[in-house]
Amino acid sequence: MDTNGAYILRVEDLKKYFPLRRGLLGRGIAHVKAVDGISFAVRRGEILGWVGESGCGKSTLGRTVLQLERPTSGKVFFDGQDLTQLGGEQLRRLRTKMQIIFQNPYSSLNPRMPIGRALIEPMVVHGIARGKQAQERAIELLQLVGLNPYFINRFPSEFSGGQRQRIGIARALALNPSFIVCDEPISSLDVSIQAQIINLLQRLQQQLGLTYLFISHDLRMVQHISDRIGVMYLGKLVEIGPTEEMVHHALHPYTQALWEAVPIPDPEVEEKRQVAILEGDVPTAANPPSGCRFHTRCPYVMPVCREEEPALVELAPGHFAACHLHKR
Ligand code: SF4
Repeated sequence: MDTNGAYILRVEDLKKYFPLRRGLLGRGIAHVKAVDGISFAVRRGEILGWVGESGCGKSTLGRTVLQLERPTSGKVFFDGQDLTQLGGEQLRRLRTKMQIIFQNPYSSLNPRMPIGRALIEPMVVHGIARGKQAQERAIELLQLVGLNPYFINRFPSEFSGGQRQRIGIARALALNPSFIVCDEPISSLDVSIQAQIINLLQRLQQQLGLTYLFISHDLRMVQHISDRIGVMYLGKLVEIGPTEEMVHHALHPYTQALWEAVPIPDPEVEEKRQVAILEGDVPTAANPPSGCRFHTRCPYVMPVCREEEPALVELAPGHFAACHLHKR
C-alpha cells in the first residue's frame, strides 16, 4: 500500500453492526451486519464506483467512512489521520474536507431556508467565509453547478429535481472538500436529467481535482464514470478492480450476474438475449449465510463454499476477488 500520499482514504476492516431490538425491554438480541469487515483504499483524484443490490450496505458504508455513523470497529484513514480516533473539534475540522451528496436533495434541504442561506450557513459555521465574501462565494457556487445566481433567494420548493440536486452539489462544495461520497446521486431523478448531473459531477471532479466514492445500483452509470469499481454483497466486499477488468473480466459470480442483468440498449438484441437471473432473495444481514455469503444464490456453489469464507485475494494486478473458484 502506497503511503506517500497517493491514497486519500484507506479503510481497514471496517464494521458497522446495528442492534436488532425486540420486546418491551428492547434488549438487543441480534445484529444487522450492514458492513462486515471491509478494507479498501481510494487514490487521490480517482472515482471509485461502489455497486451492489439495494440493502447490501453500500450507503451505510459511505456514511460510516465519513463518520456520520460511528463504526462498530475498524479504521478509516483520511489524509493519514484515523478518523475513528477523532472526535469533537478535530473531526469537525476534517469533515469540511469530506462531504456527501445525497440521493434525495430535497430531504437534505431546509424547505424554509432560501438556497443562498443554505450555502452560506456552513461557510460561516466552519469559519471559511462570512458577510459579503460568503455571499460572493455562494453566487460563484451556483454558477459552478450551472444555476442562475438570480435564484439565490428562492426556496427549495421552487426548483425542479435536477436543479435541487445541483443545489445539493453546490452545498457539498461550499467547504472546499477534497473527497465526496456520492450516494445514489441520480437515482431519484428522471432519466433525461441523470446524464446532465453525471456530466456535471465529472466536470467538477476534473476542474476541482476531487475524489469520489460513487455509490450506485446503476452499473452502466458506474461503468461510465468510475476508474475502479468495488462490488458489495451482504456487508462484504466481494470484488474490486479497474473498471475495464471489472466489466470485461469479472471474476466473482455475483459481479458476473450483476452485469448479465444490465439491459442492452438495443431492443432487438435484448429480446433474443438469454439472461441468467439471480435466483432467490438477498438473505438477511441479521443472519447471513455461513461461508461465502453468496452461496445460497451462486450457480457454481461447492461444498467448501458453505463452510469457509473466501478471502479477498489479488488475482490480476489491482484486481481482487473473494471466491473459492479463484484461489492462488
Ligand atoms: Fe460461488 Fe463459492 Fe465463489 Fe461463493 S465462493 S461465489 S458460492 S463459487
